[in-house]
Amino acid sequence: MLRSGIRIMVLLEYEAKNLLEQYGLPLPARYVVRHAGKAPDLPMPLVLKAQIPKGGRGKAGGVLRADDETQYRRICGQLLGSMLLDCPVNALLAEEALYPERELYISLLIDRSSQRLTLVAIRDGGVEVEQVATGGAGLGQPPFTMPCSNTPDKASIASLATYYGLPTSAHGSLGAIVSGLYKASRQEDAILVEINPLMLLADGRLVCADAKIELDDAAAFRHPGRVYEQNAGSSQFVVLNEQGTIASMANGAGLAMATVDAIEAAGAKAANFYDVGGGTNTAGMVRALGQIGAMPEVKAIVVNIFGGITRCDEVAQAIIEAQGSLEALPALYVRLTGTNEAEGRRLLDAAGIPILPTLADCVAAAVEDIRSVQ
Ligand code: GDP
Ligand code: MN
Repeated sequence: MLRSGIRIMVLLEYEAKNLLEQYGLPLPARYVVRHAGKAPDLPMPLVLKAQIPKGGRGKAGGVLRADDETQYRRICGQLLGSMLLDCPVNALLAEEALYPERELYISLLIDRSSQRLTLVAIRDGGVEVEQVATGGAGLGQPPFTMPCSNTPDKASIASLATYYGLPTSAHGSLGAIVSGLYKASRQEDAILVEINPLMLLADGRLVCADAKIELDDAAAFRHPGRVYEQNAGSSQFVVLNEQGTIASMANGAGLAMATVDAIEAAGAKAANFYDVGGGTNTAGMVRALGQIGAMPEVKAIVVNIFGGITRCDEVAQAIIEAQGSLEALPALYVRLTGTNEAEGRRLLDAAGIPILPTLADCVAAAVEDIRSVQ
């Protein structure tokens, strides 16, 4: 994503929370659910939250409470695979339900005019306050701001706590939260770390109920190991049918749709839509193939690559890597043509993965595969 000329990587909430956990921030117990059919048994009540790279999910119906097992499974089925705020919902965060006395807003962001990391706090946080950091709406009260060039000292924490109207007993935990957020912002090269709501519970605990993190992509070289779902550039994965029998992967949305159509036209149930995007993102492909491998009915995968910007050898490499790292991947039927085709074919050949001349051949072979299994 581009904003004011800066390339920004937006983390999903569960990714942001996993990151913040490493900095010792207090978070609810949570679990990521990707397949309604494979949702694990979890303690009730739960809050189920659609994992999309956007705020405003609460108001859009993407944050729902489940009081029992039946509601939990129904909500998983309803949200997974749906579209929310124009984004596909491929994962849910299932969290222990919390009972807040109050909801506060806190964020640390790079203030471009002062060129400083700045803390922004709002007494009454929650769904009415959105994207304060980026000049969004919903701000009916003056925020508390404070430059943050170092870990804030005791006096700053005390004035923040007074602004929030927190009891003295909460100063220690507020201080720990601010230091954790500060460390995370600096070490991760974040442009924004936003907690809304920061919940104050009846027992006096403060818990980060939501988390939004935007990272500066220009600093990505300092974090070579990091892989986030949105990092996949223009790639897009959508579950179409939990009971689908043939999965697919193609480059470009048009080719991906044509591949889904060809599968359906052959009388099979298409499991997913997956556009690997321009260029190649091996980690993203490995993850997507893992997601396909976890779908209960998928018996074959049709891969349809017309290499342009996407290089056939890189796609081949990603497929081989996925096969090596995932157990029991369904049979692959690959059509591969275009940039670096010869090298791609050589790699797949050596790995014993069949390449067929056309998409129609791939679909026919996949359909044949399903018949022979049944
Ligand atoms: P957003 O609307 O995309 O910012 O999503 P949030 O994670 O902030 O969720 C929306 C709202 O759900 C929050 O502001 C809370 O008021 C509400 N909510 C109610 N109960 C819970 C709970 O137990 N846990 C969490 N995380 N949120 C809850
Ligand atoms: Mn929120």
